[in-house]
Amino acid sequence: MIERYAETRLPTHFGDFRCLIYRDRNGKEHMAMVKGDIQGKSDVLCRIHSECLTGEVFASTKCDCKSQLDLALEKISAKNEGVVIYMRDEGRGIGLGNKIRAYGLQEQGADTVDANRMLGLPDDTRDYTFAAEILKDLHISSVCLMTNNPLKVNGLKNGGIEVSKRVEHHTEAPTHAAYYLQTKRDRMGHLLPEGNLAADNVRVLGGGKKPA
Ligand SMILES: [Zn+2]
Repeated sequence: MIERYAETRLPTHFGDFRCLIYRDRNGKEHMAMVKGDIQGKSDVLCRIHSECLTGEVFASTKCDCKSQLDLALEKISAKNEGVVIYMRDEGRGIGLGNKIRAYGLQEQGADTVDANRMLGLPDDTRDYTFAAEILKDLHISSVCLMTNNPLKVNGLKNGGIEVSKRVEHHTEAPTHAAYYLQTKRDRMGHLLPEGNLAADNVRVLGGGKKPA
C-alpha cells in the first residue's frame, strides 16, 4: 500500500531527524520525520500532520497548522524521541485549489464546513490508512498521539495502530483563526479549550463573519 522510497539525515532547527519519504498507491509522497531509535518501541510520541501550504510556508493567520507542527517538533526534540508523519493532504484532502476556493466562500461568511459543502466537497477526506502503514513500516507498536482530533485517533486504530494515549496539542490561536477553531470544535468534534475561543476573538477577529 505504501513504499519506502528515500531516506536521509535532515538537520533542522529542532535538531537532527531521520527523514523518510513514502509513496502511496495514488502516487502521493508523504514524509516521516523520525527522532531517536523508535523501532520496535511502544508509546512513541507521534503527530500525524496534514500539509498546509498557506499556513506553513506563507504564514497565513487563518489557521493554526504551523504552530501545531512546530509544537510537535518541539515536544519530540525535548524528548529526543518521536515521529511526525507529514501527510500531503492539503486542505484536509481536497487539494490546494479547492481550499482556496473554500477560503473565497469564507470571505462571504461561510464557515469551513459550509464552504466545502457549497463546493460539493466532503468536510474531511483524509484517510489515515497510509499513516498507519508508515508507522507499521517503522515497526512502531503503539503511539502517544499529539492531537485534538478524535477522528485521527480512530483512523489510526482502524489502521491497526494502538493509540496508547491521546496527548492534548494546544497552541495559541493565530490572529484570524478563532472562527476556524470554533468550527473545528462545534462542527468537527475537535477537543479544544475555551481559552482559544474567547467570544471576543470570534466576534472581532473571525476568519469569516459568522453567518446570521
Ligand atoms: Zn492550515
